[in-house]
Amino acid sequence: MNDFIIVNTLDELDEESKQLVRKAQETLQHAYAPYSKFSVGAALLLDNDEVITGTNQENAAYPVGMCAERVALFAMASRYPGMGLKKLAVAARNEYTLSLSPATCCGSCRQVMLEFEQRQNKAFEVVMQNLDHKWVKAPSAESLLPFSFTKLGMERG
Ligand SMILES: [Zn+2]
Repeated sequence: MNDFIIVNTLDELDEESKQLVRKAQETLQHAYAPYSKFSVGAALLLDNDEVITGTNQENAAYPVGMCAERVALFAMASRYPGMGLKKLAVAARNEYTLSLSPATCCGSCRQVMLEFEQRQNKAFEVVMQNLDHKWVKAPSAESLLPFSFTKLGMERG
């Protein structure tokens, strides 16, 4: 279940993952990150093979900004209600560098991703670059959030 694939370069990942990272990279130009100078793009591969992208959107009132992953997920749920998700990829870039920067999904996004996974009742893969600049393909959102807090847990109460 928790079989992470970790490789040194993006080229070592499967074609589908590579293409989705490239989509996330292409959308970086739409990030709004005047405060952090750190642009993040997320790309979702849906069950109908469409790709939905999102970027981080910051605000002068810092906490009300939103991560790229959640921008993309909420857009997907609004545009394609009931649609399943196969894979989520993240790409990030510091304003001062040309190459991609490591960016793993934050805890809040992992929590949201987990609930999307539970809503569709099947896992989706997550591709991102870790702090060692390696590319990680996680088998599920659940694998990124052990001992998680879920709606199911609340129902069991
Ligand atoms: Zn996040």
